[in-house]
Amino acid sequence: MGRASQFAPWTPGTLDIHHISTGRGSSTFVLCPDGTTMLVDCGATSPSPATVPYLVDPKPDGHRRPGEWIARYVSRHMAAARRKELDYFLLTHFHDDHMGKFSADLPMSKFGDYRLTGIADFAETVPVGTVIDRAWPDYNYPAPIHDPHSDNYQAFARSALHKMERLRVGAGNQMRLLAKPESYPDFEIRNLAANGEVWTGVGETTRQFFPDTKLLAPAQLPTENMCSIAVRLSYGKFDYFTGGDMSNDTSYGRASWRDIESPVARVAGPVDVAVANHHGYQDAVGAEFVAALRPRVFVINGWDSSHPSSVALSNMLSLELYEGDRDVFSTAVKPETKIAIRRMSELKSSDGHIVVRVPPPGTHFQVLVTTNANESDNVVAAFGPYTCT
Ligand SMILES: [Zn+2]
Repeated sequence: MGRASQFAPWTPGTLDIHHISTGRGSSTFVLCPDGTTMLVDCGATSPSPATVPYLVDPKPDGHRRPGEWIARYVSRHMAAARRKELDYFLLTHFHDDHMGKFSADLPMSKFGDYRLTGIADFAETVPVGTVIDRAWPDYNYPAPIHDPHSDNYQAFARSALHKMERLRVGAGNQMRLLAKPESYPDFEIRNLAANGEVWTGVGETTRQFFPDTKLLAPAQLPTENMCSIAVRLSYGKFDYFTGGDMSNDTSYGRASWRDIESPVARVAGPVDVAVANHHGYQDAVGAEFVAALRPRVFVINGWDSSHPSSVALSNMLSLELYEGDRDVFSTAVKPETKIAIRRMSELKSSDGHIVVRVPPPGTHFQVLVTTNANESDNVVAAFGPYTCT
């Protein structure tokens, strides 16, 4: 572990994956080896711990909205690649801690009939090329998707600010390097899953794990979390998994298809770095998921006292599920969680942005924890280098 130091800017050929700590949801900025830019989720959940006591404090503070903080974070880091635009925004699923919470007192956009929260807030100041989600353009799987937060996002989606695409499960080229793909032929973003459709690992073929919705009562339909997008990002020997809020709750064994994270992990893994599904909540990061991915590093996008659950953390740390060392990091932890779950003391970091840095040619990587207390990006701890397997 190193001492506090300045964050060394990105250089060409390096892959940087920034898990941004806002305390208000998930948001991960990816700066690719050729300078292609990508954001996975742009969460902005409830504003104040005073009204929602299980939330951590907003990071760096509450005087800007989460989408504004994220836009500033991305802008200053992509400047190292002389970039001012986001090439891809990938929304894993339609929940406020991933896309932005609607509130009638938020400002309206200059560009359309929607309010500024999450990705809409981000796109108000940073141009976005292509937005990819799980249900464009009809937003009707597994049933029509309507609530104030989703309606606000869909109004943003329909604005003329960007191109819109639905994720094509199985594809390895929907999100691709846009500047110098020929220089990095071993870089790939593989679309693993969405809406219960899962890549088989062969070509671009897929298999649907969810039953036909016509056969299900409304209460049995797949949940929004279960429909999350998952992708695997690869560079050289380095592999990274992120799968939104996928879960494994089979309703006490009555519906095995409701464990969607396990089949997705089986086709994805093993990987070097895995993001804990659903913030490490009690219905995710099950034993099969952990055993299939068996990462050297876990990242938890945490913002709530239930992130992670005791069982999810035990699974991540279990030497029965897989052998060898592994390090667990979280972007934020509520103090009472450290008291309630004794093994939280084994986390390598529980506060700050978590930057996974993969220099060329993708044989090793580092984890840098940078401060979320201000916008200095000072490195508070450094881990690795880890060897990619
Ligand atoms: Zn979530």
